[in-house]
Amino acid sequence: MKKNQIFSENLLNWYQKFGRKDLPWRKQISAYRVWLSEIMLQQTQVTTVLPYFEKFIKKFPTVTDLATADLDEILTLWAGLGYYARARNLHKCAQMISAELNGKFPQTIEELIKLPGVGLSTAGAMMSIAFKTPAPILDGNVKRILARQFCIPGYPGNAKTAKQFWQASESLLPKKQANDFTQAMMDLGALVCTKSKPKCEICPVNTNCQAFATHSISNYPEKKPKKILLTHEKLFLIVRCKQKILVEKRPAEGIWGSLFSLPEAPINTDVKLWCLQKFNIVPKYIEKLTSFKHSFTHFHLILDPILIEFAHLPKQLMQSNLSWQAINDLDKIGLPTPIKNILKQLKR
Ligand code: SF4
Repeated sequence: MKKNQIFSENLLNWYQKFGRKDLPWRKQISAYRVWLSEIMLQQTQVTTVLPYFEKFIKKFPTVTDLATADLDEILTLWAGLGYYARARNLHKCAQMISAELNGKFPQTIEELIKLPGVGLSTAGAMMSIAFKTPAPILDGNVKRILARQFCIPGYPGNAKTAKQFWQASESLLPKKQANDFTQAMMDLGALVCTKSKPKCEICPVNTNCQAFATHSISNYPEKKPKKILLTHEKLFLIVRCKQKILVEKRPAEGIWGSLFSLPEAPINTDVKLWCLQKFNIVPKYIEKLTSFKHSFTHFHLILDPILIEFAHLPKQLMQSNLSWQAINDLDKIGLPTPIKNILKQLKR
């Protein structure tokens, strides 16, 4: 038997015994459920995704339900899962499928990757799992297994190494049981071939593994080259009046796109003057709350929250993206996690 055949047989046998077959997206398999779970699982742990997946499926049982939903409703449900472009693309993709494809997901890689937010690996997972047509995938778990199995040098997120990783993924893919095989690879990466302390002694594919044979596991996959990230600092203004908070809807593009947030200002802003210029109001109370740091992929942000109390509501709001939200209803709008953390300080 060829090496790659031994690999897939051993892995499939292991999956039958130890695979996470009770994950909700692995029951009642459909293209919609596989797609939704794959988008949510991008750069996110299974345990984090579980409650979000259940909430989404309950609220939007079909792709058409998701397509007809309001983006604000989707973002509110998504809040806390991060990488909000995924939620906006989810909505766009559902609308495209509903309006242009009769509510049905296409069944080829070429067509799938034309959908917003669907990359080659998500398309591969959908082909294998939902349509039972073998197609390779290359998510973080799979890259780690492949780097160790074949001792592939270079950082796997680098475009230069991509071809080699895709070839390796394709070389292991069996012609039959592609659905189980794909899920088994995901599970092997999550449960056995973990980032730190992989459980090589009990690994079903250790006989094929070059890094295990050469005692060089810690060399693979190569670490991401370190980048120095810039730190920005901003004031986040909590304007409170009569148990309401002023919230600002963010533009569709960029960080926290289409979510609600707090008005921001440069750190050297004179807050009293800001209130006068924006609302023609002198605040009755101003307090600096505890600052904290939040890290994005490309930069760090220090958030300096300032609580500003108004005695009365201003006659009008000059910006159309500003509105008042009752403090008790803040969980009904999509707020990014750092903003939720800022607002928690009000409850103390
Ligand atoms: Fe990963 Fe170890 Fe298995 Fe190789 S033998 S695939 S390093 S768990």
